[in-house]
Amino acid sequence: MAVAILFVSDTHLSADRPERVEAFLDFLATAAPKAEALYLLGDVFDLWLGDDDLAPPNGEIVAGLAAVTGGGLPVFALHGNHDFLLGPGFAQASGCRILSDPAVLDLYGEGVLASHGDYLCTDDTEYLAWRAYSRSPAVQQAFLAQPLAARRAQAAVIRDKSRARARMKPQEILDVNLGAVTGALREHRVLLLVHGHTHRPGAYPVEVDGATGERVVLGDWYEGDSVLVWSPEGHRHCRVRELDAVL
Ligand code: MN
Repeated sequence: MAVAILFVSDTHLSADRPERVEAFLDFLATAAPKAEALYLLGDVFDLWLGDDDLAPPNGEIVAGLAAVTGGGLPVFALHGNHDFLLGPGFAQASGCRILSDPAVLDLYGEGVLASHGDYLCTDDTEYLAWRAYSRSPAVQQAFLAQPLAARRAQAAVIRDKSRARARMKPQEILDVNLGAVTGALREHRVLLLVHGHTHRPGAYPVEVDGATGERVVLGDWYEGDSVLVWSPEGHRHCRVRELDAVL
């Protein structure tokens, strides 16, 4: 087993892109088990409308996760803005442990704040209002009480509206707010942040009260298949085909 922990987010797996689903299942079956743990930082599923939503490709992905957790790999999942309804049924079926967002991790002795990242996009006040509403237990309970077909119809309407609104917003608004990032690091007393959501992969320095930290952003799986490999020596973004050489 390699001394490394893997991070993946924003795969946005859906039936529209079967080749990405295949690539993710292949990653789970071959590369992931060589690591010590896998963190899924949200939006792995392009749509998850409740733990009974096992429409393709969701069921297959749950089965792939169950196989890899059954083999002994610890897999942790955070909610993304597309799959925030992943619940106890998903955790049970997949063997994944759902963590609250943000989560403070200890990675080889370093404190790291892990998040999907959407809650740090504080310039997008309209989104934050929707986030607060859609994460309220009462709203979720009422939504989940409806038949899956009704939830699907409602989600399609919400998604169309959200896409139309996002197109009208300047790009800066859709990125994380650096003050929010600094505040989060300060609050949790760490200097490292790993997040997804913005689809702007990289590693950026961040100043916190005179100390220099780092914000590591995961890549999506629209173009490629980005995986962050974290080891005691450091961290790097890899393509799946490069993992054989590092794990
Ligand atoms: Mn997202």
